Amino acid sequence: MDILEILESNAKLYPYKSAYRYIDKNGEVAEKLNYLDLKEEISAAAGQLAARYEPDSRVIILLPAEAAFIRFFLASLHTGLVAVPCPIGYSESGVNRILNIIGDCRAAGIITNRKTYKMLFQRQNDASRALLKHEIDWFFTDDFAAELPPVQRDRIKPDTSKPAYLQYTSGSTSRPKGVMISHANLVANLSAINHCFGRTAADTSVTWLPHYHDMGLVDGLLSPIYTGGSGIVISPLIFITKPFLLLQAISQYRAGFCGGPGFGLDHCLARIAPEQVLMLDLSSLRVLYVGAEPIRISTLERFAEIMKVTGFKKESLVPAYGLAEATLAVSLHLNGTPLIYQKFTDSGSKEVVACGPPVEYTEVQIVEPVQKITLGNAKIGEIWVKNAGVALGYWQNEEITNDTFRAFTNCGKGPFLRTGDLGFMKNGKLFITGRIKELIIIRGVNYYPQDIEEVVSGCHDAIQPNATAAFSIETEEGEALMIVSEVRRIALLDDNIDSIKSRVAHSIGLAFGLIVHRVVLIDPGKLPKTSSGKIQRLKARQAFAEN
Ligand code: ATP
Ligand code: MG
Repeated sequence: MDILEILESNAKLYPYKSAYRYIDKNGEVAEKLNYLDLKEEISAAAGQLAARYEPDSRVIILLPAEAAFIRFFLASLHTGLVAVPCPIGYSESGVNRILNIIGDCRAAGIITNRKTYKMLFQRQNDASRALLKHEIDWFFTDDFAAELPPVQRDRIKPDTSKPAYLQYTSGSTSRPKGVMISHANLVANLSAINHCFGRTAADTSVTWLPHYHDMGLVDGLLSPIYTGGSGIVISPLIFITKPFLLLQAISQYRAGFCGGPGFGLDHCLARIAPEQVLMLDLSSLRVLYVGAEPIRISTLERFAEIMKVTGFKKESLVPAYGLAEATLAVSLHLNGTPLIYQKFTDSGSKEVVACGPPVEYTEVQIVEPVQKITLGNAKIGEIWVKNAGVALGYWQNEEITNDTFRAFTNCGKGPFLRTGDLGFMKNGKLFITGRIKELIIIRGVNYYPQDIEEVVSGCHDAIQPNATAAFSIETEEGEALMIVSEVRRIALLDDNIDSIKSRVAHSIGLAFGLIVHRVVLIDPGKLPKTSSGKIQRLKARQAFAEN
């Protein structure tokens, strides 16, 4: 069964059950969709799309975190179009990202609403002018709701060898690449995730994650309807301004499932007052997964400690590892079991948390990336993955698809997905240490940027949290360490810039025995980050090289 058949069967079983509730900035339910309405609205929307686009056309879904997104995403799949979820960015770089995606997938149309359209062109810049000139069809979902009689449409039987949607990667290390996810990939990964979590139709899940990235789309929006449960959706923007609303929704709806990157947990801790914590009841949470970027043990420990009074169970923390190229999840810690920490010696004696065993029907190998020799227990190498969730490849990019998706070990085992991530397996559990491309190698010793960044972030009050990039540059004396940090404006006004810089250099010297080549302090918001908030170290390095 594919996701639409599963939805249909759930609509028969639970027609009047809430599939999604969207929470607004006051914590009220702004939109509510039950299973039957969802199913009918999807086929009506599919009728509109089919009248306008040829099968297999790519359509960009450029919609905010509202019910229209899931309606039109699934309507595209229903009618055999290739959906392309895309982040809405109003800044010049945001509009450029949209332009890049349109060009890359040669989209036939953009499905958006009038408000978004207006906002895109409000700030006149080169990118928005280029977008306006682009010969592309604009489909406004508001018109669909307002004037068009719904045309129910029978579903086109999907061809599982073709992409159902393109998931653009976050763009942490290069320009976002369009990963082709088939119906079979999607259902295989949804099955693996939900089997591991033990999520059922009786469960409620809450998400604040960007719905145009793999985690927000696959787990945030699709897991609830895959299992026949209920989803509560809060937009990322509301979460960032009012994180309390997320935890309040978990309390109020007795939600069992939630998750996201570690910075989301840090954000809750930073922005929720102790008296607010006392108002919460998080005892219903069975899974709070944490992934998408390196997981700090201190984040897990602090969250568990501070939220203990709410009935939150530390065993519901689920360190998770995955990537768009594998639809979403590769390995998940088993919920209800204690976290496992492990020391490794690559850069000092740092501890990492286990991201659990590979999900069901998944083979993970740790491979020496040059000679492609598989490595044994506790040895660090590249993480290679084989399962039914591994995507079809990158959209129209045979060469990189071959290198990435069809790798074989030196003794001919394969094909595997090369993740570009480094880690090790110990006693059947996967530990992630970092990315190959971002590894800093100085005098033959490996350092992971996030370890250095953590030290820098904590060494001075003026340095913004989560806003430091560590990378190396080539100098005449070999590879040298660079630090770029955002600092509060007030600190830049003071004449203590030099004292901040020397504190940074001193802390790195103490922690790693390294000499910093240069420390660059920049304004808040200036460090390059992806639309999901990941630091773009390679982009920072390039920007530095170009001055
Ligand atoms: P791009 O591929 O465009 O550079 P990206 O790799 O950040 O961007 P995603 O597919 O959204 O795009 O993210 C997957 C990556 O996130 C993984 O390859 C890995 O580097 C990182 N990641 C995910 N989970 C973890 C984890 N638990 N620990 C460390 N890193 C993680
Ligand atoms: Mg990637």
